[in-house]
Amino acid sequence: MSLDGTYDEANIFAKILRGEMPAAKVFEDDDVLAFMDVFPQSRGHTLVIPKRSTARNLLEEHPERLAALMKGVQRVARAVRAALTPDGITITQFNGAAAGQTVFHLHVHIIPRWETAPLGRHGEGGMADPVELKALAGQIAAKIA
Ligand code: AMP
Repeated sequence: MSLDGTYDEANIFAKILRGEMPAAKVFEDDDVLAFMDVFPQSRGHTLVIPKRSTARNLLEEHPERLAALMKGVQRVARAVRAALTPDGITITQFNGAAAGQTVFHLHVHIIPRWETAPLGRHGEGGMADPVELKALAGQIAAKIA
C-alpha cells in the first residue's frame, strides 16, 4: 500500500482496539494503547498506537495528536527500560509499504536492544509464545510510572 489510500477499519490494530483480536496489553490511557509485537525483533518489542485515529501513517495524523502519541511512547519506553534493562532502545516508525510498513494504522515500535543480541529482521521473525508475551507485558506494565 502506497502513502495514498483510505483507512481500512478491518486492519489488525483496529480489530485489537475494538477488542476483536487478542493482544498482550502493556498500557492504555485515553490516547494510546501499547501491546507486545507478536513477531518481535527483540525480547520486549512493544508497539504504541493512537486509539482514536484513522491515520494510516505519521503523515496523516492530526498534528495536535502527535504529542499525546509520543508522550505515550516515552512513558512505555521508560517502562521497557526499567523492566528489561536493555543497553539501548530503538524507536522506529514506517510509512508506506515501500518503507516496510505492513499494518496501516499509525504505530511506533519500541525495540529494546542488547549489545550481545543482534536485531531481528523487521517482519521476518517467528511468532512469539503468547504466554511469554503476556509475562513480558506484565513485567513492563508493572514499571509504568
Ligand atoms: P509495520 O511493519 O511497521 O507496519 O509494523 C507492524 C508490526 O505489527 C510488525 O512488527 C508485526 O510483527 C506486528 N504485528 C502484526 N500483527 C500483530 C498482532 N496481531 N499483534 C501484535 N503485533 C502484530
